[in-house]
Amino acid sequence: MEYQSTRNKNLTARSTEAVLQGLAPDGGLYVTARLEDFDWQGTLSLSALGMAKKILGFLLPDFRDMGKLVQAAYEGKFETEELTPLVPVGDQYVLELFRGPTSAFKDVALSMLPQLITAAREQEGVTDQILILTATSGDTGKAALAGFRDVPGTGIIVFYPAGGVSAVQKKQMVSQEGGNVCVCAVEGNFDDTQTGVKEIFSRGIDQNCGVRLSSANSINIGRLAPQVVYYFKAYSDLMKLGRIRLGEPVDFVVPTGNFGDILAGYFAKKMGLPVGRLVCASNQNDVLTDFLATGTYDRRRPFYRTISPSMDILVSSNLERLLWLLCRREEEVAGYMRDLKEKGVYTVSKELLSGLQADFAWGCCSEEETKATIGKVWQEQGYLMDTHTAVAWKVACETRGEAPAVVLSTASPYKFPAAVLSALGETPDADEFRVMYRLNELTGVPIPHGLATLERKPELHRHCIGKEQMADFVLERVSF
Ligand SMILES: *Cc1c(COP(=O)(O)O)cnc(C)c1O
Repeated sequence: MEYQSTRNKNLTARSTEAVLQGLAPDGGLYVTARLEDFDWQGTLSLSALGMAKKILGFLLPDFRDMGKLVQAAYEGKFETEELTPLVPVGDQYVLELFRGPTSAFKDVALSMLPQLITAAREQEGVTDQILILTATSGDTGKAALAGFRDVPGTGIIVFYPAGGVSAVQKKQMVSQEGGNVCVCAVEGNFDDTQTGVKEIFSRGIDQNCGVRLSSANSINIGRLAPQVVYYFKAYSDLMKLGRIRLGEPVDFVVPTGNFGDILAGYFAKKMGLPVGRLVCASNQNDVLTDFLATGTYDRRRPFYRTISPSMDILVSSNLERLLWLLCRREEEVAGYMRDLKEKGVYTVSKELLSGLQADFAWGCCSEEETKATIGKVWQEQGYLMDTHTAVAWKVACETRGEAPAVVLSTASPYKFPAAVLSALGETPDADEFRVMYRLNELTGVPIPHGLATLERKPELHRHCIGKEQMADFVLERVSF
């Protein structure tokens, strides 16, 4: 037995079961205590796909043919065979995680997850079709659609708030091709959409209908594991560049929302990679950085909509995994989570806080600082970054230590063109496609292929429903 719930050590699962289930039956997250005995040095000389095969094979040992799954997920799907190129910018490094099919960092995990889910389904003898239901405020929906498109044994329905996503994000989703995909607008905001999906999950569907519901949410261990790979890749690239020798530490600065990205870095560290500090960067929503500074997690605070919307989050689900990894006491973790749910706040023990502060550093960045950073880095270094990356860059500059700093870049600047263009001093047009073309004209930075051809693509999905119709919409599609 490899995995267990963070809240109960008797709830164990094989890695294939954990991937199929997502959440443990008690609401905990699946974790493993066995990260330590990994041949990390032998991994550094491999290609990106070789690293993925070896690291995923270690973290998810029950999957029979990981090499085949990795190939199906990544080969020919990213802009470069390296998957996640490392780019020197000034005296820091940018790790570009957005070179996948939808120009979002979510592609790294959501290219792999469908392969893992179908393999787990086969190995566990499940004959039901797996139907993925996702509520999205933007990037996750498109990355999930692209990942699950035409994957045998699966189907996917993505709900998005009508008027709540950008024009580019909407076009990315409604132009999605594939025989097993469905996209639907919901009249309401993101919370309405998310609540609708949660209700469908809690109500469940007819057990005998041949369909099993699942989610592509980032609490699935199958989404976390693929993200460990790029930490190894970045380290190996720094060695190739002659910037470090084997064993020397490297700091990683991560624009953080749900804590999945940065937690993958902690996994890499536990697996032996010489990770120095993991720096958690927040925008104006600074619940995580406050937590790291004080040991008190308090979600009872205003929620700000920022120009780095993928980090606008008040409850970071993956933090629960870190708490368990640091204390290894299920009752303690379950207690913190109960307090969070009932009171909206919890405080970790002194011991746990000092454990946290030994491995993590933190910093936040205001809206003005984010824009100023985009402008400054463009002017001084000729490198164009998006709003999320800029938050991390700013924090990296403020937390610099001896070790080289790698800033994780989670989106193409063309995914947030209006904010980026105004950071460069121009007033953006109301038409987002025009803004994209203008940004390209001004900077000469190429528009990713998928976005450059997007405006001309036909709209294939035109459903728009009320929020109370969501369950019926799913049921209609289940009973084919
Ligand atoms: C999802 C996302 C993040 C946050 O990543 P977490 O794993 O949730 O911390 C940051 N930036 C972008 C662009 C994202 O899409």
